Amino acid sequence: MAVQLKWPILGVIIPCVLIATIAYGSHYFVFRTNLTSTEQIVYEIFVCNLWLSYYLAIVVDPGSPPKNFTPKAGEWRRWCKKCQNYKPERSHHCKTCNKCVLKMDHHCPWTYNCVGHGNLPHFLRFLLFLIVGMIYVLFQLGKRVLHYYDNSDLPSYLIDKKEMFAVIFLLPVTFFLFVTIVVLFVRCMINLLFRGMTQIEVWEMERVDSQFHTERLWLQIRKNYFKLHGKEMPHLVSWNRTTRYYEVDESSSNIDSNENSIVPKDFTSDDIVFPYDLGVLSNMINACGYPWMWLLPWGGPRENGYHFQKNEFMSDDQLGLPWPPDGGHQEPAAPVDSDIEISDTELQDMPSLRRRLDPRNNMTRSEWMNDLGETLDDFGVDLEAEDIEHDDLVSKNGDVNN
Ligand SMILES: [Zn+2]
Ligand SMILES: [Zn+2]
Repeated sequence: MAVQLKWPILGVIIPCVLIATIAYGSHYFVFRTNLTSTEQIVYEIFVCNLWLSYYLAIVVDPGSPPKNFTPKAGEWRRWCKKCQNYKPERSHHCKTCNKCVLKMDHHCPWTYNCVGHGNLPHFLRFLLFLIVGMIYVLFQLGKRVLHYYDNSDLPSYLIDKKEMFAVIFLLPVTFFLFVTIVVLFVRCMINLLFRGMTQIEVWEMERVDSQFHTERLWLQIRKNYFKLHGKEMPHLVSWNRTTRYYEVDESSSNIDSNENSIVPKDFTSDDIVFPYDLGVLSNMINACGYPWMWLLPWGGPRENGYHFQKNEFMSDDQLGLPWPPDGGHQEPAAPVDSDIEISDTELQDMPSLRRRLDPRNNMTRSEWMNDLGETLDDFGVDLEAEDIEHDDLVSKNGDVNN
């Protein structure tokens, strides 16, 4: 869940105090007497580098769309009511920064800045340097603990009490922070490398996946397809027919058995093409520059943040729609039928039944929450600016070829 601080400045003060306590506390009480001068100098240079990456993550602007930005053909026309400007693909309006942010990942309270297109490399470098620094501190503190253990029969006056208390205090604090940062870093890197997604796009994919069997989602997708291409959506076929989403007996399923259902029978959420996933190396290069730039303070993204390279699978994309396929627009849900009938066969197929009874099926995009309970609001997105009218999604005359 997202952290909301009463005084946002604490978001910067707390990490500064923690980093200073661990970095300088361990140096003053432990490293000063146990490391060589050269080791101490290298350590302090590393700490300076860590501060620099944190400073850059705070001050570097993730970037905003230029005034009078116009989406290209084949992109959603998403109008930001607050900026009075079109939003480029992958951008969102941040409620804290109060502006549209390019390729917005999330608003980070700990850098008091949005993480987005222009500063994602600084944010990732900051997390990486923190992790490397804390591994070193934990290793050195662990060595001292082993030393105390090996010399436990020594008289107490021969043990440096200040150093021992510092180790007892710093070790758990560093370990707790280390685990927290590793979880955040691994989550960001897996999504970036293997899926080419921002945190908001992962959330969006989970939403589309969770509502994939609903007529509600498909009504919107079909509407969008018609608006964009001027014809009905063709019959969709799974890339891999063995990955059937519904393994239920078709005669019993309310969804699959209905010939008139607008939910495609053989098309699964795995068949959706996420347009910006270009493969591990290209994902990393487009976001953070060439490999020799990754650790340098000036290493930045290769793309301009308004238009992004799409993968070759887009030509096979049967939905033929920009991301997300429903354009992020959802009509309010119809009243829920309180008398839901469940057949015996459905009881045999619990995953399908659970999906059908999921209360999130009827939630709008601004209400929907993932399995961790995160809503779009938790990533810092301004929901008022995000809410778009369907007619605005494609240009007024129903043609994006402007
Ligand atoms: Zn905006
Ligand atoms: Zn922000």
